[in-house]
Formats: sequence, C-alpha cells, structure tokens
Amino acid sequence: MFINGEWILREDLEVINPYNLGTIGHIPSLSRNEAKEGISICQEHKTIMKELSPSKKYGILMNIAKKIQSNKEKIARIISLDAGKPIRQSIIEVDRTIGTFKLAAFYAKEFRGETLPLEDGIIITKREPVGLIGAITPFNFPLNLVAHKVAPAIAAGNAVVLHPSSKAPMASIELTKIIEEVLKSKGIPLGVFNVLTGKGAVVGDEIVKNENINMVSFTGSVEVGESITKNAGFKKITLELGGNNPAIVLKDCNLNNAIKSIVKGKFLNAGQVCISVGRVLIEEEIKDKFIKGVIEEIKKLKVGDPLNKNTDVGPLITKDSADRVEELINQSIEEGGKLLYGGEREGNIIYPTILEVDSENILSKVEVFGPVLPIIKVGSVEEAIYQSNNTKYGLHAGVFTNDINKAFRIASELEYGGVLINNSPTFRVDNMPFGGVKKSGMGREGVKYAIEEMSEIKTIILRNINIP
Ligand code: NAP
Repeated sequence: MFINGEWILREDLEVINPYNLGTIGHIPSLSRNEAKEGISICQEHKTIMKELSPSKKYGILMNIAKKIQSNKEKIARIISLDAGKPIRQSIIEVDRTIGTFKLAAFYAKEFRGETLPLEDGIIITKREPVGLIGAITPFNFPLNLVAHKVAPAIAAGNAVVLHPSSKAPMASIELTKIIEEVLKSKGIPLGVFNVLTGKGAVVGDEIVKNENINMVSFTGSVEVGESITKNAGFKKITLELGGNNPAIVLKDCNLNNAIKSIVKGKFLNAGQVCISVGRVLIEEEIKDKFIKGVIEEIKKLKVGDPLNKNTDVGPLITKDSADRVEELINQSIEEGGKLLYGGEREGNIIYPTILEVDSENILSKVEVFGPVLPIIKVGSVEEAIYQSNNTKYGLHAGVFTNDINKAFRIASELEYGGVLINNSPTFRVDNMPFGGVKKSGMGREGVKYAIEEMSEIKTIILRNINIP
C-alpha cells in the first residue's frame, strides 16, 4: 500500500475497533503480483541503503524518533482504537518505540567489526547489510514490534518490505507516513521502504518465498513461524514466536512481590503478550495465601474502554480470539479445572480469570493469549523445573525465591531464552537480547542483537605486510 513512494488507497479490508466493533478504517489487500512488484522495487533500491554513511543513518533514525515523539498522543490513541490496548499501555508502547529508534541511531554509528593479528599481516572483519529484509509483524505491539525490525534494518543499511498485521495495521501506517517524510527530507528514494498490507497468507507468504528477500524477520505465532521454516528456502530467518511462560513461586519468596508482579504480568494487554504469564507453578504450602492475594489484586483492575485512562484490561483483538479463550476456560473446567475467579465475557472482553488446574489440563499446555491465569501446585523445586520444561515452548520464565543460589541453579536448568528472578516472565527492555528456544523461536532481537542478525561479517585478510 506504500510502494516506491506511492500510496495505494483501496478499501479492500475493514479495520475493526475490537472494543465497540465499529469500523475505524480500510486497507488495501494486495494481490500476490502487487506484493511481488513491491519486493522487486525494494530489491532494486537496496544498494542505496548499503551506501548510506553512519551519520546519515543516525540522522534518519533520530528524526524518525523525534517525529514519533511529536505525534505521541495521536499514535497512542490509534493503537488503543485499533488494537484495543488500554491507553496508558499504548503511551508506554509509543515511548518505547521512540527509544528503539534512538538506540538504533546509536548503533548505526557502532556498526563495526574487529581485527585479528597474523604473523605477516592482519585480519579485518567488517559488517555488511544482508540486503533486503522482509519484516512480518503481529497485532499485539503494532508499533514497537515494527520498530524492532525497521530500526535495526536501517541501522545495518538494509532496505525493508514490511507486512504489518491486518488485525491492527493503523499504527504502522502512521509510522510509514513519518518514515516517508524523513526519507524525503534526506533525499533518499522512497523505494527503499515499502509497506505491503493485506492477507498474511498472500502477502506474508510472498515475502517468505520471494527470492529477492535476503532475510525474513518474523514475529507471530508458532504455527506461522513453523510454516516459514518450510517455505523460506535459502534465506536467513529469525523467528520471534509464542510462549507458555511459567512463573515458579517458591515458599521462601517475597509473596507480596510475587503476587503483584504476576498480576501485572498476566493482565497487561489482556494477556495478549508473548511473554505473558502462561502458568503459575507454586509450592503447595503457600498456594492458598497466594490465591487470596491474587484475587485481591485482580479486584483493583479496571476492565473496559481502552480509551479510558483508568482502564487496565481491554478487549481481545477479535471475536474469534474471545471465542477461543472462552472455549479454553470451558474446556479447562470440563477437564477438572476449578474456577476461582472471573470467567465472564462481554463482547470481546474476557474478564480477568483464575483457575486452579493440574499439569494435564488444557490451560497448562497451550498459549492462551488472554487474561486467564492457571495455577498449578507443585510438591518440589524439581517438579517445578520439570513442568516448566515439559512444553514445546521456551520464551521466558520467572522464578520467585529469596535464595540466590537456588535462583541461579533453577535459571541454568530452565530451557528458556530468558529467565527472570523475582519478576514475572513479562519483562523486556528494548536493548536486551530477546528471543526464545525450542518452538518459541530462533535468533535474537533487541536492537544491537537484531543488527547482528541483519548483517553479515565480511573477512578481509591482509598478508605480506609488516604490522609491528
Ligand atoms: P500470527 O497470526 O502468526 O500473525 C503474525 C503475522 O504473520 C501477521 O502479519 C500475519 O498477517 C502474518 N501471516 C499470517 N499467515 C502468514 C503466512 N502464511 N505467511 C507469512 N505471514 C503470515 O500472529 P498474531 O495473532 O498477529 O500474534 C500473536 C502471536 O504472536 C502469539 O503467538 C504471540 O506469542 C506471538 N508474538 C511473539 C512475540 C515475540 O517476540 N516472541 C511478540 C509478539 C507476539 P495477517 O494477520 O495480516 O494475516
């Protein structure tokens, strides 16, 4: 829909407000041929990006950050309308996005290699962009997760084709307008950044299969991620996928901290966060006290209109998502899960819900992606570690204990990309390496680490020279 500096403005797909189900806009649904054309134009422009100086890339990225800053309220409102995210959380997302672009600006000047000594010379490595990045993004952080691909791609000197989620495309369209202005102001041809809206099964699939794409950078579900591993052919891929993230709560922990951190981590964005708390594994002796504390904490959460600044929990992204989460709650109860709190639904809103379940229950096994907290009692630390690892996922895990030796032992035994000590799994800052193991993904984001993924090392060997 933004190809070679031209906006395609067809009204093929409706964009729905998940809270009141009103229409907030339309986007074109590009055909496979249109997607091919967008990719081919970008490929023709990729050397322009490679040749940009570090200070030019710095200038582009800093100017994008500044323009996001001056449109902060407007963009936050768009995220809330489009993705149903409570406005205070949308503002945090916009702030983080500004930081992501600023970090990339810094690293654009730090895009460097190293040297190795030789008997008769020196080896120099330099980093070079991979070329054309195909970025495919999900709905749940519709601005910052786009930034986590576009900003490092620019810092490393790559051209980008972006396919934003059609469930929440509006924030990325605002970002595209900003990038258009900045590129124009710097005299850079606009074909270096093309945005292809439409159905993931068509446009996303073309990005994955197209031979002009040098690297696919994907964030989304395990199912689509797995299909990418089969369809991408001979190109680099990074995958940031789903999780069923355990929070292990041990009897020697600060229980109050565990309660507050887990409730905050579970109900952020109505549980639609890849590092949301998937399940609590708690030592039996403290379970009842924990449940009482969690219920008290949940009662403080305000559920409702994402545009209301007091709202903590908004709707799920679509009716299908709410139907799915409601069905999971019902199935869990049929399998013996005990409903402890919540369970109600209103439109796309699922009220905060907690259940006590066993490790065979459906809620122990899947990524719920909704405001539902399954609590599972365990008899020992070993059982908590075993249950944590007994899953196809491996994104983040949290461990609550006041014994630092125990915490480090557990951290090293957990098969996860990140382990949080005395925090729920729901924590990320934008400069840290971020990603999963097992089916939660491959490769790392976090600006510096994404720049490494989006570049190749070239080794230049100098011989027959005398370097003392
Ligand atoms: P999704 O359904 O997998 O969609 C993600 C993106 O893939 C969308 O842009 C989608 O396009 C596109 N897509 C769909 N089918 C495709 C195909 N066959 N080929 C290529 N692209 C295709 O995920 P979602 O529902 O938006 O997001 C939720 C999931 O993302 C959860 O599992 C969550 O855990 C995960 N996630 C992971 C991270 C992380 O960093 N690890 C962060 C956020 C979210 P359309 O929607 O336009 O069809």
